[in-house]
Amino acid sequence: MNLHEYQAKSRLEAFGIPVPHGQVAGTPQEARRIAENLGGTVVVKAQVLTGGRGKAGGVKLAWTPAEAEAHAQAILGMNIKGHIVRQVLVDPASAIKQEIYLGITNDRAARKPVIICSAEGGMDIEEVNRRKPEAIIREHVDPLLGLCDFQINALASGIELPYPLWKQFRRLAQALYDCFIASDATLCEINPLAITEEGDLLALDAKMSIDDNSLFRHPDLAALRDTSAEPEAETRARAANLSYVRLDGQIGCLVNGAGLAMATMDMTSLYGEADGIGPANFLDIGGGADAETVAAALRIILTDPDVKAILLNIFGGITRADEVARGVIQAFSEFESDLPKIVRLVGTNEEEGRRLLEEAHIPNIITATTLSEAARKAVAAVKGG
Ligand code: GDP
Ligand code: MN
Repeated sequence: MNLHEYQAKSRLEAFGIPVPHGQVAGTPQEARRIAENLGGTVVVKAQVLTGGRGKAGGVKLAWTPAEAEAHAQAILGMNIKGHIVRQVLVDPASAIKQEIYLGITNDRAARKPVIICSAEGGMDIEEVNRRKPEAIIREHVDPLLGLCDFQINALASGIELPYPLWKQFRRLAQALYDCFIASDATLCEINPLAITEEGDLLALDAKMSIDDNSLFRHPDLAALRDTSAEPEAETRARAANLSYVRLDGQIGCLVNGAGLAMATMDMTSLYGEADGIGPANFLDIGGGADAETVAAALRIILTDPDVKAILLNIFGGITRADEVARGVIQAFSEFESDLPKIVRLVGTNEEEGRRLLEEAHIPNIITATTLSEAARKAVAAVKGG
């Protein structure tokens, strides 16, 4: 789960990181009032769960409250990479001497958190990594030792941070690490971390992602979820207890088991690669799914306008193939869909499952025995369709 900038900043502040004290507005008039109360120059910032807002015109300086209102007017409703702006953050503007990048994420290969720092702040770290990889300093953190001062010093020296700022920087990096651990975050990022003209460090932008699997023990963070900002399909999938991630291909995949779901995605990508065809989603209906769950999953896939074929890959163990077939029949009785449906149904009660499907006479069903056959047929169906 991703936090909005204003949410991440308030969380970081709770751990002792200096942030500007702005407020969120949903209307231009509100933005104006906030600017009036703050006095002086402000920055009006789109609150959407994506980066690169600056480049997209979603971050604007305003010298007067009237200007703040005009900027908010322009930014609210803006579409930034598919995210509609519903709120803006109005922050007091800072005079920036230098922009630094500071972030923590998990390095899965190293099985440790890694703290990343760069003097080339402001732009995407991926971009820095491409253009000037030597400008990125990394320190892996031993989770049992925590982040050590010598490591923070190595970062400070690596980015040639002016020495008078080192003490502040040590406190700040430590606070960021504490926040990362205490929040079960998968990412805590400050970009830019500004060195202000007054010679202080200030977190001007913040990004936080929280591990969804930890939300049960963070009700305060779980409550921050902005369901209006996520694809509706993902909200519905969560409600139905499905693991669903929307992707940009054309083959809607319905699979039981995360490993099999990934294998299915790999196979469709492999066979579809040459034609730009691939999976439209990751979807795991879980073990022992009943007809209702299958129907819920199919409804989600069927509402994705990019889906041109549906691939059902069910390996029945705990999940019974006949139960899955009932779900499929239920879903297609609600939605008339003539999309090609490639069905691979094997395992427990497979004969019964296949018989039910045959008798239901759902249009455009294509059966397959193996996964590779199913993937090839799905790709061919999209190509032909
Ligand atoms: P992003 O583009 O989504 O990462 O949004 P940011 O919050 O990082 O803003 C983009 C850029 O706007 C920053 O890198 C800064 O250069 C600039 N910016 C943001 N806040 C301020 C501010 O208070 N004062 C000034 N002068 N520039 C700012
Ligand atoms: Mn940024």
